[in-house]
Amino acid sequence: MADIADDANDLAQLEIQSILRNRMPTKSAYYKLCRFCKEPTPDGHAFCDEDCRDDFEKRNKGA
Ligand SMILES: [Zn+2]
Repeated sequence: MADIADDANDLAQLEIQSILRNRMPTKSAYYKLCRFCKEPTPDGHAFCDEDCRDDFEKRNKGA
């Protein structure tokens, strides 16, 4: 009987995983790498830290 319960559990897990995958926030798919140094960024941020953001803005201003 335990086997049947395990199978049901696995199915439920697969379903939850596919739901979560489809519900990924769009912004985390947007930026995967820092726009300045190309390091991976957390939570889909455009820059890995404030320094990179500042440097990127400075460079874009041509300063
Ligand atoms: Zn960076």
